[in-house]
Amino acid sequence: MITYEQFLENNQRVQERFWAACEAAGRKSSDVQIMPVTKTHPVDAAVYAAQAGYVAVGENRVQEALDKIADGKAPIRWELIGHLQSNKAKVAAEKFDRVQSVDSVKLLQRLNAAAECCGRRLPILLQVNAGNDPAKYGLAVEATPGVLEHALELEYLQVDGLMTIAPLSDDADVAVRCFMRLRELRDQLASKFGVALPELSMGMSGDLEAAVASGSTLLRVGSAFFGAR
Ligand SMILES: *Cc1c(COP(=O)(O)O)cnc(C)c1O
Repeated sequence: MITYEQFLENNQRVQERFWAACEAAGRKSSDVQIMPVTKTHPVDAAVYAAQAGYVAVGENRVQEALDKIADGKAPIRWELIGHLQSNKAKVAAEKFDRVQSVDSVKLLQRLNAAAECCGRRLPILLQVNAGNDPAKYGLAVEATPGVLEHALELEYLQVDGLMTIAPLSDDADVAVRCFMRLRELRDQLASKFGVALPELSMGMSGDLEAAVASGSTLLRVGSAFFGAR
């Protein structure tokens, strides 16, 4: 695990890339949030993030995150960005501040029932496989309107927007196409259903510039902060 000083150096580099990307895209940096991804690292990674002023961290696996949340050391919001099995929906709805990886009607129903039980309205994002990558989870673009329609009927869920992961590729245009597709889908869905869907969670360490240029509101950045996993 890196030291806090090393983290601050990495943070400086991430911030510089981020500012340059916002400037190049003509976007206000306050319209885009950076969420450090602390998966595989000890809870101290989330403590660092909180100390540096970040408000939320992303975690990939439910059990790993639950241990860190239970530790109580990091005063920060916890968001689930990894695949969620429906048998873990209950504990996820209880413990996470938001679930970004919702990709089925079954999961929606489980999360809604669990959120009702613990007396909260759970913020979620629908994960879309906007890059059409067979190696990725997420809803097919064509399936998303139907699933969103369902989600909007559920009283204990609040749909903040959409999330995607770009396919791994040496060609930077692959990520741009994926991100533009997610943004267009969001615009279509927002007008079709008359909802805002403000959050577009897209962009990671390797493609944050493309994501900012394509309208991302939330960058999920792991290795650029904490080193290779
Ligand atoms: C691990 C992960 C990230 C961060 O990836 P880096 O390339 O390390 O920045 C972002 N989003 C999801 C869904 C992840 O699983």
